[in-house]
Amino acid sequence: MKLDSYWLDTAPPLVSACEGPVEGHADVVVIGGGFTGLSAAQALGRRGARVTVLDAGRIGGGASGRNGGQVNTGVAQDFVALVAQLGVERASACYRAYSDAVDTVERLIREENIDCNYLASGKLKLASKPHHLEHLEKTAELIRREVDTDIELIGRDRIRSEIQSDSFYGGLLQRHGGQMHMGRFTVGLADAAVRHGAKLYEHAAVSAIAKNSSGASGYRITTARGEVRAKQVLIATGPSCHGPFGWYRRRLAPVGSFIVVTGPLSPELLAHVFPNRRAYTTTRLMHNYFRVTPDSRLLFGGRARFTASEQPSDAKSGRILQQGLAAMFPMLASARIDYCWGGLVDMTADRLPHAGQHDGIYYSMGYSGHGTQMSTHMGQVMADVMDGHEERNPWGSAEWPAIPGHTGNPWFLPLVGTYYRIKDIFY
Ligand SMILES: Cc1cc2nc3c(=O)[nH]c(=O)nc-3n(C[C@H](O)[C@H](O)[C@H](O)COP(=O)(O)OP(=O)(O)OC[C@H]3O[C@@H](n4cnc5c(N)ncnc54)[C@H](O)[C@@H]3O)c2cc1C
Repeated sequence: MKLDSYWLDTAPPLVSACEGPVEGHADVVVIGGGFTGLSAAQALGRRGARVTVLDAGRIGGGASGRNGGQVNTGVAQDFVALVAQLGVERASACYRAYSDAVDTVERLIREENIDCNYLASGKLKLASKPHHLEHLEKTAELIRREVDTDIELIGRDRIRSEIQSDSFYGGLLQRHGGQMHMGRFTVGLADAAVRHGAKLYEHAAVSAIAKNSSGASGYRITTARGEVRAKQVLIATGPSCHGPFGWYRRRLAPVGSFIVVTGPLSPELLAHVFPNRRAYTTTRLMHNYFRVTPDSRLLFGGRARFTASEQPSDAKSGRILQQGLAAMFPMLASARIDYCWGGLVDMTADRLPHAGQHDGIYYSMGYSGHGTQMSTHMGQVMADVMDGHEERNPWGSAEWPAIPGHTGNPWFLPLVGTYYRIKDIFY
């Protein structure tokens, strides 16, 4: 079993990154080479800006290359709860922003000719308990009435036509959206950014950002590979554990999420268990997500433990996931596990993204585990915002206070994990 991301391991090599020192002048420096940063670089480069992207590790080596491979529409949290929190108008605008984000991914794949096995098969949210289905019914009603008619409630009588498992009582199908090979999308987007003139640097961790001295506008950015100057800076680091990003760290909880991928399975078995090849998630708080990969494996993920991701601990989480997979799909219980890995989700207190400007520097992050589409979309949006079009930012008006008691070290995560586990038993 490889303790590595299947997406990164099976992606074509990225040959367009720069060798040599980080130096010179750019119009925009983008810090972070995940989907937010690469998408921003593509859009800014396309309009003629000189862009430098700096990543601390491998391009796409953060959440963008380590996720569940789903490109879903709809908000991360329950829509009924979001309406109660924000009101119908604002909650519907959030939902629409995710629809736009799926459109952005599909447009970029088309326009930049990215070969990433995109499959527009929608998402099926599976009810893990009978009363979860009742709640999905209410959710479906509200979504259909307010914002999206392209959805369907699958009752208990029809759930077997969607999935062969005793674990589910029905589900909510949202047809917009799909799934893709995240490693191939990363390389395709990175190559597109380079074609539009961007320079990409790997292993160039940013350690300092300073305003230019002597009253000149712009910034000096110090990295592990040298220094570059820029007129504008975009921070697209997700939940960065290093670098001068304390203000952001106090606003994000870096929650570990873990994934296992089986060896290749027989096409007949897969067609029987997952006939429509949806992107699947479950309704528990400690939920699971899964899908079939382009080469016929099952990818099965979840928040197995409330802990950070590091290889020995990923293996422990992998064993918990393997037990969950076997309980849900007994016919796959003996499947070999070929890959196991984890990644950090940039969770915010309201589970909504946050983007805008702090201290003159632009940022977009906080996708809360629902970000393959939104990070890609926000890269494009932030290019507009940095060009003076603040009205394009769907998250621009929201306050973003620090998480109470969060000093940058997320000491509270094990407590949240215990709370979720207990709530899952009783709800
Ligand atoms: C296990 C897991 C499963 C997920 N599954 C899904 C899913 O199925 N569907 C979905 O929609 N979303 C999912 N997500 C969320 C989604 O992957 C992210 O929201 C999205 O990829 C975020 O992209 P990003 O570019 O903002 O951040 P990232 O991809 O994390 O990129 C940030 C980059 O910044 C770099 N960086 C950090 N600090 C510095 C520094 N000091 N200097 C330079 N560079 C730095 C990092 O090295 C990293 O490459 C999942 C996330 C995880 C972890």
